[in-house]
Amino acid sequence: MYRRSLLKSLTALPLLALAGRSRLASAAGGAAPTEQELQKNWKELLADGADIAPSREPLKLSAEEWKKRLSPEAYHVLREEGTEHAGTSLLLEEHRPGVFVCAGCSLPLFTSAMKFDSGTGWPSFFTSIPGALGTGVDGKLGYERTEYHCIRCSGHHGHVFPDGPPPTGQRYCNNGVALRFIPKAQSKPPARSGPTPLGPKPLAKP
Ligand SMILES: [Zn+2]
Repeated sequence: MYRRSLLKSLTALPLLALAGRSRLASAAGGAAPTEQELQKNWKELLADGADIAPSREPLKLSAEEWKKRLSPEAYHVLREEGTEHAGTSLLLEEHRPGVFVCAGCSLPLFTSAMKFDSGTGWPSFFTSIPGALGTGVDGKLGYERTEYHCIRCSGHHGHVFPDGPPPTGQRYCNNGVALRFIPKAQSKPPARSGPTPLGPKPLAKP
């Protein structure tokens, strides 16, 4: 597969970065969550009673129905594979714990723990909620890019590139207008922040 060969060529660099990261994490008292843990535990960031799609059962609507349901900007991205202007999304500054769902059909796609600041001007994620996205090849710019879309309503969200950070090396470059953010209940701290271990730690001797 296309992605597999890219991953292979990227193996050396992320491994070095991971080695540095795991040393830092253990010095801070806990290991960073793996991609598998982030994917498996994504519901820990879902607010109680959140308005999300009840299942992945396909949602098919006519163009007219989509136009009634979506803003013109969201319609352009989701239904016409458009791209919003860089730097325009309020979600770039969204740092609260929570879940990002499809603006078209409310299927959960990403969590706040999967988001990172790519500096591109588009909300970016290094992995996704498992099974939420489908991919296709987009050759519109004269070279091949991997397009991805919501598996439920087939709405276009963005493109995925193999230049993201550890632990995956992937960068899901998402149009903010295609997402809706649901913050986790404000009164609760993020599920992954446990109590800090107290007491002195044995220091390594030089
Ligand atoms: Zn959708």
